[in-house]
Amino acid sequence: MIATLPYVQQKVDEFNKLIFKNQLEPIPIHIGSSKTRLGSISCKHRKTAKGIEFYGFKLTISKCFDLQERDMEDTIIHELIHYYILSKQLHDSSPHGTLFKQLMNHINQHFGRNITISHRSSSEERSADKRIKEHFVCITELEDGRTGITVSAKTRIFEMWKYLPRFFKLKKMTWYWTTNPFFNQFSNAIRPKIYLYDSNKLEEELKDAKELECDGTTFRVKKH
Ligand SMILES: [Zn+2]
Repeated sequence: MIATLPYVQQKVDEFNKLIFKNQLEPIPIHIGSSKTRLGSISCKHRKTAKGIEFYGFKLTISKCFDLQERDMEDTIIHELIHYYILSKQLHDSSPHGTLFKQLMNHINQHFGRNITISHRSSSEERSADKRIKEHFVCITELEDGRTGITVSAKTRIFEMWKYLPRFFKLKKMTWYWTTNPFFNQFSNAIRPKIYLYDSNKLEEELKDAKELECDGTTFRVKKH
């Protein structure tokens, strides 16, 4: 079977009642066309007096997979476990950490399910990574018009600032400090390297970032 909006909606309501005791708030559902991820929960985060808070959730199920109904249901429940953990502002040790596994095993036992984390693609793993970490990010505009991302190891930012323009033909380089979990998916570079990325998508990811300036010995937040 292929996911449709009415089907996913019906299943979310059914499992919310049956498994999550109606503790899940209604969530917008989207039928997507990812070829690598069956399902995902996306959300935003903001700082509050109590710490980081997650909000603005969306459940996406891909229409690019033809699954047995049991597997479709398990996929939806898998995503609802993520939604439960994030929306209750519970902190897990990793995207599929101790708490996730506890809930998953409990549901498998009590409801005869077969939810797994093993078949998940690494891109799903990475994008489910909502941990708040600080990142020093260099956005580069290459001479040919493309845009690049370098997430620098904290210990290498001065070297990166110095060497990126020497290793690559750059039109512009801008440095940012950000805690957006979007950047968790990039490994911290210790040598100059650039990931090419769609510049239109980056704007949203950088909207809370602080632009930095560097004089060769100090990085500080740029005053506009
Ligand atoms: Zn997952």
